[in-house]
Amino acid sequence: MIRYPDGRLSNQADATYCHFDSTCVSPADHRMCKTAGQWALTYDDGPSPEARPLLAALAKANVKATIFVAGSASYYNPADLKAMFDQGHEIAIHTWTHAALTTGTVKQIIAEVLYSEALVVKVTGVKPRFFRPPYGDIDNRVRAIVNALGYEVIMWDKPHNTQDTVVPTAEVLRMVNTWFTQPTAPGFISLEHNLNAAAINSSIAVLDAVIAAKAANAMPLTIVPVGACIGQSAYVGGAVAPGGAANGTAAAGPAGTVPTVVGAPTNTAAGATASQTAAANSNTQAVGAVAIVAAALSALFL
Ligand SMILES: [Zn+2]
Repeated sequence: MIRYPDGRLSNQADATYCHFDSTCVSPADHRMCKTAGQWALTYDDGPSPEARPLLAALAKANVKATIFVAGSASYYNPADLKAMFDQGHEIAIHTWTHAALTTGTVKQIIAEVLYSEALVVKVTGVKPRFFRPPYGDIDNRVRAIVNALGYEVIMWDKPHNTQDTVVPTAEVLRMVNTWFTQPTAPGFISLEHNLNAAAINSSIAVLDAVIAAKAANAMPLTIVPVGACIGQSAYVGGAVAPGGAANGTAAAGPAGTVPTVVGAPTNTAAGATASQTAAANSNTQAVGAVAIVAAALSALFL
């Protein structure tokens, strides 16, 4: 839940914003995996030096994850971003300032994505294709813009949100341990964080639980990064990594190219409101602005 700049809360039923918390989801958003039994491991925020123990825990558990990084944090911690990539984790975009995008202008949203993209390209040499909006805050206008920039929207399956930024580690573990016994068709995308010490500790505890379950032959799930979960490459021009193999050799796409928009999302989201319908009408205009601003920003930064 977030509080918007005008004071509204994201879990309030109002006609102003369309938020994941208020069941405002689109079928175009990825939340589940193609294959039964898959668990796509994702972490939001960072990179930061504080999260290095999490990277070590991922290596110890011998699993690959998808990490949605903030551009600003990447700017200050490029070595940590590179370490995540070099360890074989998928790097994905989570905006520059961790902004609530539905309240931003078209140009602000484009800048949030493309500046972050430019930095990831600069540090890793790959151009990401996966995007997650901070706070899960997204509507069809934002979807149209990020799609026009070449991104797939990656959300999470709500029952597999660990709530690790607000609940203690014991509660996170209690939840995750139920995943090891419940039916898992289709597979799912979970949500964890590497935002602060508490979330990082919870994330490490989850990996320890994974190691213990594997050792006890009690792990029915196959842990994969998002690319293997949805059957797409995490990077422009990259190969899909089946089973979560490292994919650090993907070639970077041509910098600054703006992919063709194939069918901007329609307003079929559950919980869509009249204002979202009106907003959808401006999506075409927003996407038109993408090409102009994207070209300008890319020329500036790359
Ligand atoms: Zn975040």
